[in-house]
Amino acid sequence: MLENIVELLIEWYEENHRILPWRASKNPYYIWISEIMLQQTRVEAVRPFFERFIKALPQVEDVAVCPEEQLLKLWEGLGYYNRVRNIQKAAIRIVEEYGGRLPADYEKLKDLPGIGNYTAGAVASIAYDLPVPAVDGNVLRVYARIMEDDSDILKQSVKTKVEKEFLEIMPGSRSGTFNQALMELGAMVCVPNGAPKCEQCPVAQYCQARAHGTALDLPVKKKSKERRKEEKTVLVLRDGERVAIRKRPSKGLLAGLYELPNLEGYLSEEEILSWVEEQDLTPLQIVPLVDAKHIFSHVEWDMKGYLIRVAALEESADPKMIFAEIREVEKEYPIPAAFQAYAEQIQMRLGQDKYR
Ligand code: SF4
Repeated sequence: MLENIVELLIEWYEENHRILPWRASKNPYYIWISEIMLQQTRVEAVRPFFERFIKALPQVEDVAVCPEEQLLKLWEGLGYYNRVRNIQKAAIRIVEEYGGRLPADYEKLKDLPGIGNYTAGAVASIAYDLPVPAVDGNVLRVYARIMEDDSDILKQSVKTKVEKEFLEIMPGSRSGTFNQALMELGAMVCVPNGAPKCEQCPVAQYCQARAHGTALDLPVKKKSKERRKEEKTVLVLRDGERVAIRKRPSKGLLAGLYELPNLEGYLSEEEILSWVEEQDLTPLQIVPLVDAKHIFSHVEWDMKGYLIRVAALEESADPKMIFAEIREVEKEYPIPAAFQAYAEQIQMRLGQDKYR
């Protein structure tokens, strides 16, 4: 049954696929970086990040020796900063163990930090024409609909079963094209969140969900555990020109990045002002800002913000606190998108926005 879709999909892909910078060559480094970026963002949003990353670090060797701050800056706006840290760890091993070229071997690829079955499959099949599957959320959705399979696709056992079935029908040296065709079908035709475009689908004749009108009920995803909620008070501390930022701890969520100073819980204006004074700063005015929310995979930040004008940002009791002009912060310090709502209040651009 599944084997019937191979030729039809390859044919369709060859005529219809989008032109993307990382597909222009079969460079394994480009494919690796783009696939890690695509795990968190849509193709169109990834494009400028990818181009900037590759321009700054054209080879695996450049990633291996890149200073951490520059690396985080290049990733700013993409989130999931551990992914770029893992890219660097893997790059160091690729240089030391494989002379700077990603190994043409599925198992060896999987052994590298941050590279799981999907990324290893994508690199091995697209760059090296190896007959291995690359099963991500798009491919799972396409599979669940074609086969009308109502297993929970968030379960590892289901993913393993799907990988096994695709492995059996991989079309030899055209496996990279087939994998990309599946991904493209999932992104462009058999779309999530809404009705799939079955009238444009090259494999509609073999699709069980279409035949039985069940496409909208598939795939099945059982809800994961509730996210932990954290309340925070975010402070935009300013004198005439500068703003205060602070380096985050080197371990844990958003490790090593910079942030607007913030405190656990919702504090009253009096509590905030006395905290500011404890930092050896002189508050002149406090103004409440908008409430904001940021959702990470396991945690949600519910934030209340305040703009506080202080007499002069010169020295603080906290050695992690830095005072800098806004344009300097934009240029030098990686600040996660979680602070977007408050950065906007002082016309500070984060991530991709500052390149516009
Ligand atoms: Fe998806 Fe529709 Fe194609 Fe089935 S026919 S694979 S539901 S787009």
